[in-house]
Amino acid sequence: MTLTLDEARALHAECHVLDLHADTAKLMDKLGYDLAQRHDRPMPRPVNVFGHVDLPRLREGGVAGQFFSFWTNPIPERGCAKSVASQLDALDATMKDHPSDLVWSRTGADVRAAKARGQISALGGIEGGQALEGTLEAIEAFSRRGVRYLGLLHFSKNAIGRPAKGRGADASEGLTAFGREVVRECERCGVIVDLAHINRKGFFEVLELATLPLMVSHTGVTGVHPHWRNIDDEQLRAVANNGGCVGIIFARRFLGSASIDAVVDHILHVMNVAGDDVPALGSDFDGFVVPPLGLEDIAALPNLTVALSRRGVPPRVLEKILGHNVLRVLDAVPAWGRLAA
Ligand SMILES: [Zn+2]
Repeated sequence: MTLTLDEARALHAECHVLDLHADTAKLMDKLGYDLAQRHDRPMPRPVNVFGHVDLPRLREGGVAGQFFSFWTNPIPERGCAKSVASQLDALDATMKDHPSDLVWSRTGADVRAAKARGQISALGGIEGGQALEGTLEAIEAFSRRGVRYLGLLHFSKNAIGRPAKGRGADASEGLTAFGREVVRECERCGVIVDLAHINRKGFFEVLELATLPLMVSHTGVTGVHPHWRNIDDEQLRAVANNGGCVGIIFARRFLGSASIDAVVDHILHVMNVAGDDVPALGSDFDGFVVPPLGLEDIAALPNLTVALSRRGVPPRVLEKILGHNVLRVLDAVPAWGRLAA
């Protein structure tokens, strides 16, 4: 049964919709982007790749929680931790000014309680292990400030391992000794490991080490569109065995098409290969993406729900894709790890 747009909106209101990856905090920090204010939807022509997310449009999209990912320029590495801290500061400042709209969440219970109070949840993530600047201690410090996932790699080699592509990419090299310690320390501190951008060898080495569910926050799948940025069926099955989830990215170049149905194709492939406990949403909004038509910003998310239902996904599974698979991972990885809260 195909849902109407109104029915999709009603479903969003009932369940907990979560997006695993948006780079908006960088805009807030560097450009003074006001998250509380409504911005015009960016148009792909001329290419305008910023301004996909703000609080009014999160509400319009029926989103319960947004993961804000903090990326850093790795050259030089020194200063990356400070850059993450100032992106966290930007979110803190918005929460201080708009306490009834936005609140930090770490757990599934936090997300549910925030929604019941009418607040949108902010969850923190780091994109690129260079933010640790080579120290394990940084993980606990970031965790205490609200960081819930750590993307080990981004576009360059770092002290943890090698990226799928970028500076220092090398398919034959996996995790370093420090990288293995980082995985253990993340589990101790309640930080979920994010495998987006890591090379294939490192990907499986992390899964071998991990004792808790992890995630791939934003990716496409090679089973639909072969591309270096996407992950293959063996990787999907490995995440399924680990109990983790995979956020599908909203970037035309990785999806292989400008149609909203491309997002549906990637999600359905994840379901077919890895089961319906795995797929999630990982827009990468505000991260230099040109999103598919009909999915131009976070407010447009109900269009994706309609498109999924048109392809036969029932409401019970839609809820999982829209957020409940992420909630399950949040519930499975103790928020403070073995730290005292
Ligand atoms: Zn990324």
